[in-house]
Amino acid sequence: MTGVPFLFNNQDVTKCFVNLHGAINLYRRQNNQEMLKIQTFTFNPFSENTYVLYDETKEAVIIDPGCYEQRELNELYSFIETNGLKPVKILNTHAHIDHVLGVAPVKRKYGIPFLLHKIDEPLLKAVKTYAPNYGFVLFEEPEIDTYLTEGKDVTFGKTTLKVIFVPGHAPGHVAFVNDESRMVVGGDVLFRQSIGRTDLPGGDFNTLLNSIRTKMFTLPDDYTVYAGHMQPTTIGYEKKHNPFLNEAI
Ligand SMILES: [Zn+2]
Ligand SMILES: [Zn+2]
Repeated sequence: MTGVPFLFNNQDVTKCFVNLHGAINLYRRQNNQEMLKIQTFTFNPFSENTYVLYDETKEAVIIDPGCYEQRELNELYSFIETNGLKPVKILNTHAHIDHVLGVAPVKRKYGIPFLLHKIDEPLLKAVKTYAPNYGFVLFEEPEIDTYLTEGKDVTFGKTTLKVIFVPGHAPGHVAFVNDESRMVVGGDVLFRQSIGRTDLPGGDFNTLLNSIRTKMFTLPDDYTVYAGHMQPTTIGYEKKHNPFLNEAI
């Protein structure tokens, strides 16, 4: 006698959630509730991800501008121009060289403020001392206009980004969460099946794991993580498959 077949297996459950998420997005589109849009650029020899977030108001924020070569700056500028966007802020997750190479020129181009967590200010100040060793002789140190703080939201257009403090890879590292679009721009904290390195100044392995467990992994499983390097992932996928974390959960 054969057993009663299962109504669904794990794969079907996953599909079901994906379909539900898709249906919500479709509902929003049909009801003219335009969603936050995100554009990814991969810049500089470190293959760093720079993100432009914008909504239907066309206001935009630029997160971690790592553009250094003129062609990279032009790629960013032409995307902004083609889409009629109005950048209003530069936000940084942290101040490592690969994430700040483009801050000064982009800030000058649009005359917009640069926001960073205060604890990463010494890291930013250190960049000019080692940038030439990496060949970045044109690096200019940008001035910080506003300090980012956990719990103090950042807004542009009709969009609100929650700021969460996630130190460990860098001492003043933050991530930007948008609940409507169910996503987080996470910098170098959590990567697809990996985590940020902790051997750089101010890095600490246990602090990083704690940030991921208490701040990232408390976000819903379907939230997309847009990381500072490599392709996006989701909170749920990393809870299951991240070799640095899943054993401890
Ligand atoms: Zn970094
Ligand atoms: Zn990085």
